[in-house]
This record gives sequence, structure tokens and C-alpha cells, in this order.
Amino acid sequence: MTSPDQKLIIGVRANKRSRENNIEFLEADLVVDATGRGSGTPKWLEGLGYSRPPETEVKARIGYVTCEYRRLEKDPDRIYAEMISPAAPAEKHVAFLFPIENDRWIMTASGYVGDHPPTDEAGLLEFVRSLPSPAIYNIVRDAEPLTEIITYKYPASLRRHYEKLKRFPEGLLVIGDAVASFNPVYGQGMTSAAMQTRVLHEVLQQTRNLHELWKPFFKQTAKVVDMPWQLAVGEDFRYPETEGRKPLFMDMINAYVEKVHKATQRDPVVYAQFLRVVSLMATPMSLMSPRIMRRVLIP
Ligand SMILES: Cc1cc2nc3c(=O)[nH]c(=O)nc-3n(C[C@H](O)[C@H](O)[C@H](O)COP(=O)(O)OP(=O)(O)OC[C@H]3O[C@@H](n4cnc5c(N)ncnc54)[C@H](O)[C@@H]3O)c2cc1C
Repeated sequence: MTSPDQKLIIGVRANKRSRENNIEFLEADLVVDATGRGSGTPKWLEGLGYSRPPETEVKARIGYVTCEYRRLEKDPDRIYAEMISPAAPAEKHVAFLFPIENDRWIMTASGYVGDHPPTDEAGLLEFVRSLPSPAIYNIVRDAEPLTEIITYKYPASLRRHYEKLKRFPEGLLVIGDAVASFNPVYGQGMTSAAMQTRVLHEVLQQTRNLHELWKPFFKQTAKVVDMPWQLAVGEDFRYPETEGRKPLFMDMINAYVEKVHKATQRDPVVYAQFLRVVSLMATPMSLMSPRIMRRVLIP
């Protein structure tokens, strides 16, 4: 809902799906669009005579399948997670296996750039068998599937650059996946959304009125999103089939990241630092400190 001159967002008109023609009007000083990747804000902006935010799309065409299995007594019981990652660009297959409640395993297998896992039981097992390590195959090959094989496709990472807009209505902000939703390879989406929420908190602490709040908010949000975005699309661009605008120096950075990946398999210090980076607790530059570089480059 807007003011008559459409310069101010004054609330939300909500249509409850459960009840027909039940429209609710919620007035608010500030509306935050947290409706995820499918956010309507770009379309609504256009409808109000504003520009849509410029978008960056990186198409890595990832496909997932997930299935739960019965955990047997003979299965290893001290596993927190098995993760098998591909050595890009030759390998495109990934798999994860976690123990969950009710004596079950949950396994997700995925493939990059259209090379997706099959959705039938025999085909999926063959896919898992083809991974560079037999660790997951050895567990699931005899396990009883307890669910259907569920598929999920993730065609592209998508970033909306609200920070580049010159005009934006007052009283509205956009947050979380509605701003940037990226390849969940490193599982950073929720952390990114939480960090953006902290930006909102800080921006609200700094100002006494809501006028022009969007400018500092989107500027700082863009900084927060930069790091997980670069890490995730960096991973995508290890495959030449990935479509999109490649950030500067990405090939050079990826050549080093490749070596970091290898070092994580033999060196717990490098692995711990790598985890800190992908968990957004340290900057990617920290992987280039002399201490880490020496361990990465001299096996
Ligand atoms: C396969 C996959 C695996 C992932 N794994 C991880 C992981 O391991 N770790 C991690 O941190 N992140 C992961 N993510 C990313 C994470 O799920 C998202 O980054 C996070 O959920 C974003 O939160 P959000 O609140 O911005 O959006 P969402 O979680 O998408 O929430 C938006 C909500 O708004 C609702 N909504 C939408 N439109 C409307 C409307 N018009 N009216 C009312 N409600 C509406 C939706 O129903 C939804 O509930 C993964 C994502 C995918 C796709």
C-alpha cells in the first residue's frame, strides 16, 4: 500500500489463501520484504514507476535428489557427515550423507551444469558409486530406502542490486534471498540473511527517522552479500559450462582455491580456516595469509 504520490510504502495488503476474498490491510511505518527468491518487489517497483533493480544471474544448473534410508546397526555410528565434493571441472557429482532422527540416514546427491542424478533407485546408486570416494556408496548400497527420491532444481544464483538504484520508495526494504539467493554449495544463505538482519538492526540504531533508510541499508547489505556471493559463484565458475558474468580475476583465484581444496584433505589447519571462511567467520583473504599459503602450496 502506498501514499497517494507513491513515494511512501504505508503497509501491506495481504490476501489470505485459506479464505476467499479475505483481504487484510496491515499498516506499517516500515515494510520489509523477506519473501525469498520469488519476491514481488521488482515487479511492484515497476508498477509504481520506479526502476527494477539490475540483476546478476549465474547459471550453474544444479539438480539435487534426496532420499532417506534406514540406518543399520552395523553402520558406522560416529559419522557426523560424509561429504564428497567434485574436483572441478572434470567431476560434476556431489553427495552428502547425514545421520538423522529415528535411525535414518538422509542422503542428498547433486550434479552441476545439467549433469543431474537419476531419480530411480538403481540409477541413483550407480551415480553414488561413480563418486571419487566409496564412503557413501558403501553405506547406502544395502540400505532400505524409506522415502521416495525427491528432486529439486536450482537453475541459477540470482542477485538483485538494490544498492545501485537511484530512486526507491520510502518505508520499504528488501532482505535475505529476496536480495541474493546463491548456490547453496557452502550452506551460507541463512547466515547471509542473518547478517543482513544485523545490518537492519545497526541502520535502525543509527537513525532516528525512517527517511532514506534504504540507502545505507542496501549499501551495507551489498557488502555483506559480496562475500558469500563471490564464494558461491566462484565455485560455479570452476565449470566452463556455467553461464554469467565472471567476476574479475576469478580464474586466477579459482586456481588457488583448487589447491586449497586439495590441502583441506591432508591439513587440518587449512581445513579449519577454510571452514571459517565458508561459514562467513573469516574473510577469503585469510586463506592467503603466509601461514596458510605455505601449507597450501608446499604439501
Ligand atoms: C537446496 C537448498 C539447500 C540449502 N542449504 C542451505 C544450508 O545448508 N545452509 C544455509 O544457510 N542455507 C541453505 N540454503 C539457503 C537458505 O534456504 C536460504 O538462503 C534462506 O532460506 C533464505 O531465507 P529467506 O527468509 O530470505 O527466504 P525464504 O526461506 O525463501 O523464506 C521466504 C518466505 O516467504 C514466504 N512468501 C513468499 N512470497 C510470499 C507472499 N507473497 N506472501 C507471504 N509469504 C510469502 C515463503 O513461503 C517463505 O516462507 C539452501 C537453499 C536451497 C535451495
